[in-house]
Amino acid sequence: MISEALARIEPSRTMAMTDRATELRAQGRDIISLSVGEPDFATPAHVIAAAKAALDAGDTKYTPVGGTMALREAAALHFARDLGIECTPQSVIVGSGGKQCIFHALAATLGKGDEVVVPAPWWVSYPQIVRYCGASVVPLVAHAKDNFRFTAGDFEALVTPATRWLLLNSPGNPTGAVYPEDMLLSLGDVLRRHPRVLVMSDDIYAPLNYTGAPHATLAKLCPDLADRILTVSGVSKSHAMTGFRIGVATGPAELIAAMLRLQSHTSGNPCSISQAAAVAAFTGPQDFLGEWREIFRQRRDSVVAAINAVPGLSTPVPDGAFYCFVDAAPLMERFGDDEGLAMHLLDHGVAVVAASAFGGRDGFRISFATGEDKLAEAMRRIAAALA
Ligand code: GLU
Repeated sequence: MISEALARIEPSRTMAMTDRATELRAQGRDIISLSVGEPDFATPAHVIAAAKAALDAGDTKYTPVGGTMALREAAALHFARDLGIECTPQSVIVGSGGKQCIFHALAATLGKGDEVVVPAPWWVSYPQIVRYCGASVVPLVAHAKDNFRFTAGDFEALVTPATRWLLLNSPGNPTGAVYPEDMLLSLGDVLRRHPRVLVMSDDIYAPLNYTGAPHATLAKLCPDLADRILTVSGVSKSHAMTGFRIGVATGPAELIAAMLRLQSHTSGNPCSISQAAAVAAFTGPQDFLGEWREIFRQRRDSVVAAINAVPGLSTPVPDGAFYCFVDAAPLMERFGDDEGLAMHLLDHGVAVVAASAFGGRDGFRISFATGEDKLAEAMRRIAAALA
């Protein structure tokens, strides 16, 4: 019944595990979910107020497919202020989540025979979207000893005449890898030698960088390459607005027009109420972002210490985002594979996502975007389950 294209992909394993945890909780089980990357903070009051005001004002109808002008202007402000990328509102597209922007960009440009270089460990949906589009995934494997960062040379070694995209995500999901300026500048040098390659710079975790250095992004550092870079951002992770489903992207006019053409046939416009809320998020106060970052940093430190104290588990210190990518290779004999280990932890009341969902192996990802008490209890349960 299903299409050949769909048969090439599996359901999102982050979503599947989160749904499973919700289901088990509904059955009365006590499950702490560290499976999904979703800030536990309440959405800021001024954002909620803007959503309510939009409802009261009757903003309940279609908007332009690519988003209201108010939101495209607010997003252009965000790209300039927060990422250092100067762009016009016309070069911004608003999607129903960053995921939709990424899907549309890839679906609008890829076909059979194309190759996409995807750094691994990767976010679950990248390779699935590439495969759905009929293109091939070329894994660019990065290692824990390098804080999960690849070098420009590693990338260049994989470039062929069929390479169409490089998918970059910094700070990254699931490892927290952060690419500093010098590494991106070297990457820019390589990209200049390969003019056919486009770059997706997924900057959704930009505010969550614990290195103290300002966020570095390719379109800012290499403006001469801007006509080949799509930068994706949003409000889900930064402003605790995952349910609103608003993502934004800016890039070359031809690509944005192609994404718009596709979006006009998929979702049409993103939710009008959510768009009004996102305007408030981008244009309202931003000072709480620093406070949230500090809270995440403290959680990261406690979680890393707790994980590394469990015999058989180890994780490097992630420089950004809110994930730890945990190695559990010494325990694999006991559990068979990483899915077996994830199921064992679920039986002990903690939902995590197996490393293989992210192109890794012998471990799991945890999200530390959860309150301190729950995190501490989850760490106790993990230690007990593996004792
Ligand atoms: N990006 C988040 C995660 O990795 C949200 C879930 C998803 O879309 O995969 O957990």
